[in-house]
Amino acid sequence: PQRAAQLPNSSSSYLGMLGGGQLGRMFVHEAQALGFKVLVLEPEADCPAGQAADQHLQAAYDDPEALAKMAALCASITTEFENVPAASLAWLAQTRFVAPSAACVSIAQNRIEEKQFFSRCALETGIYPAPHAVIASLADLETISDALFPGILKTARMGYDGKGQVRVKNLEELRDAYSNMDGVLCVLEKMLPLAYEISVLVARGANGEAVVYPIAENVHREGVLFTTTVPSPHVSADAANQAQKAALKLIADIGYVGVLCIEFFVLKDGSMVVNEMAPRPHNSGHYTMDACMSSQFAQQVRAMAGLPLGDVRQHSPCVMLNILGDIWFDGSTLRSPAWDKILALPSAHLHLYGKAEPRPGRKMGHISFVASSMEQAQADLRSACKILG
Ligand code: ADP
Ligand code: MG
Repeated sequence: PQRAAQLPNSSSSYLGMLGGGQLGRMFVHEAQALGFKVLVLEPEADCPAGQAADQHLQAAYDDPEALAKMAALCASITTEFENVPAASLAWLAQTRFVAPSAACVSIAQNRIEEKQFFSRCALETGIYPAPHAVIASLADLETISDALFPGILKTARMGYDGKGQVRVKNLEELRDAYSNMDGVLCVLEKMLPLAYEISVLVARGANGEAVVYPIAENVHREGVLFTTTVPSPHVSADAANQAQKAALKLIADIGYVGVLCIEFFVLKDGSMVVNEMAPRPHNSGHYTMDACMSSQFAQQVRAMAGLPLGDVRQHSPCVMLNILGDIWFDGSTLRSPAWDKILALPSAHLHLYGKAEPRPGRKMGHISFVASSMEQAQADLRSACKILG
């Protein structure tokens, strides 16, 4: 029963998607391009993936009836959201091809398990996680080494876009910060001197075939991804090679199937640290849609369908700009962004996610600037930033 979906010929077959956000929406578009239908399970009405899907099951991710419907209809099931209950994936996997597996997703759901996994592989990858300590109770605070300050306290679970993180200079600030965490499991990480941040996107099929995309360089603003530039302006050929090899090693080590994104820090002394991984396509991989032979979402569809993975080659330099809900607001008035001016830029590829309501900090879309030179892509990015304010 656990075979991947087959490419549909006359009667279309269904792929299942847990999660209804923009990553699910872009998966739906790629799946439909290969003739599949998609069933999306998502509790929210009118969600980005639900709008595009052939069917939207509006129910909780752990609703037994909804999961049973999903298993009845779909040959293969995947996720676009790492906090989907691992138990739902495990249940579906009893009768259907589910990728990534519950075991892989559980590792990515927990920073502590993630760091244990990275540490275990570090002998082979040569890349370690940041020095850190697990904090499970007040008593653990008393055993923290001074070498971890200044540090960042992070919740072990459910953190994203810089949420669930507090920077602490010393033990006293750590005590304060931890006492506001409601007793949840945390990790204290040493604050590292970052030169820049990169991510490595890898995809692996059920047959073990794996591919790795070029290094993407990421700039964050207020904890949220702001731009991704590929090729990375800073990474050396050696560092790029090491990070790509490490990513391939990590994805094979846990027998991961699907698309995985691994974030690395490059420190001021040139050394590399592995930060975290996302068990799904990633915001920093959106550039693949317009600048590579196969997009990260196409790879996810191929992996779900047991098809050969696509060509990861990048055909043009690219800068991706995230569009947050903030640009809809001008003081107290709502304004509409000038899409006509953006689309007049020759390199601009605009993607909007169909979210009903713009909110500050909410990811509403992105623009990939794809040009024959990086200079042109960056010039158009600057023009767009002026237009969008
Ligand atoms: P999230 O799940 O919110 O993406 P991250 O662990 O990636 O959490 O942290 C968000 C950002 O905070 C990183 O992209 C990086 O800029 C910064 N950061 C996180 N950990 C460290 C660290 N140990 N040292 C320095 N900066 C860090
Ligand atoms: Mg991150």
